[in-house]
Amino acid sequence: MELYYGISGSGFVCHTINPRLFKEQIAFIIKHAGDKVLFADLTFLPILEALAPQLRKLKAVVMLTDEAHMPKSSALPKLKSYETLLAREKDQFNWPELNENTACSLCYTSGTTGEPKGVLYSHRSSVLHAMAVCTPDAFNCSASSTVCPIVPMFHVNAWGIPYLAPMIGAKLVMPGAKLDGASLHQLMTGEGVTFTAGVPTVWLALLDYLDAEKKTIPTLMRVGIGGSAAPPIMLQRFADRGAEVIHAWGMTETSPVALTAALTGKHAKLSNAEKLAKRAKQGRPLYGTEYLVVNGAGKPVKHDGQEFGDLHIRGAWVASSYFKSKEKAAFKREGWFNTGDVVNVDEDGFFQIVDRAKDVIKSGGEWISSIELEGIMQAHPAIKEAAVVSRPHAKWAERPVLVAVLKSGAVLTYEEMVMHFTGKIAKWSIPDELIVVDQLPHTATGKLLKTVIRKLVLAR
Ligand code: AMP
Repeated sequence: MELYYGISGSGFVCHTINPRLFKEQIAFIIKHAGDKVLFADLTFLPILEALAPQLRKLKAVVMLTDEAHMPKSSALPKLKSYETLLAREKDQFNWPELNENTACSLCYTSGTTGEPKGVLYSHRSSVLHAMAVCTPDAFNCSASSTVCPIVPMFHVNAWGIPYLAPMIGAKLVMPGAKLDGASLHQLMTGEGVTFTAGVPTVWLALLDYLDAEKKTIPTLMRVGIGGSAAPPIMLQRFADRGAEVIHAWGMTETSPVALTAALTGKHAKLSNAEKLAKRAKQGRPLYGTEYLVVNGAGKPVKHDGQEFGDLHIRGAWVASSYFKSKEKAAFKREGWFNTGDVVNVDEDGFFQIVDRAKDVIKSGGEWISSIELEGIMQAHPAIKEAAVVSRPHAKWAERPVLVAVLKSGAVLTYEEMVMHFTGKIAKWSIPDELIVVDQLPHTATGKLLKTVIRKLVLAR
């Protein structure tokens, strides 16, 4: 937190690095960003040592600790202590007056293919984003909230939460490294957390823990879920515990939050099941962002919840280029950013992400949404985690395959899987195969790693 504010407030750029990236990717982004000083927690010393030759070019590597806890490293003999550096300075600092368009932070996309791409945020875009994300139809936070971001500070600036909590005077609780169900339950009940946010994989673990131990988090009112689609059953499981899920969509390129699934007045009459189906979509645009969804012919799609197209976005906190990059493909349509997500829009203006364009399963000219199939399967009692990917097919081009992790002791046959899907989706969308695995691979930000899962399917 000190670095977020100290660096940006002094007119420098706070570039957060995801320590779970491959060593080569970390080395690439340190160099590409032109980083001058690297700050790290003690736990990351092994990563720093592995990167030692690249780090020697930096002005300094600062460990976030005091002199007494400084590590001795033969690979990095010149490490500095953060507390020692601070102790040498005066308590007063004249903060510079910065133009609002000054750059304040930098994040790289976790990209599953190619080199990571940098997105540079300004003070202006970060403040506007934080204000929008506080609003009632988004994270709905205020001075009486206790806010706990489970999304890490390197994942698109923890979705703006480290900015919005001080902005409104909310209590901010940071989880540290322990994100298992028992640790999160203890932290949230101990601190009286009212709002939390993170990716679906974290919530699977917490919900399973609460079920197994018959525990609750009595203060928890709202859970922001994004990064990947929140399966409808997850909204229901939180609702059963008195917490409302706010499904949100965004990307590194959109700061990130841009769509949130809050109901409007006209939805009050809907049944609970209909409300849940609406709120399981990715939602409506936050004021400050604009959208364009175009079909294959480049024409805007009908708002009928059926026709799908490529989602383009622009707005006060949407990138207009990548940092120091010649990559122009995503910005081909003048003034717009092509998200790479395929969506439909319903009559109420609710957007639903069908898939990442590269993850859609194209079967016999029809498109199958892997996200929809995963959402349905996630509700089966035997399933711990479900992924749907394509397998190349001679006649249909591609066919869906379900790759599943089962709950401990559970069994699932192919016939049971077909039965579960029957009546919920078109017959030809039902996966041709079920593959049970011990675990599924995830990206460095906790999303299903579809490239690796497709390879795993091909190897069978
Ligand atoms: P990143 O920039 O790494 O955070 O990834 C952004 C991508 O995550 C988006 O383009 C979407 O494909 C996906 N994503 C984010 N939020 C959601 C959501 N609520 N539902 C489905 N996909 C999502």
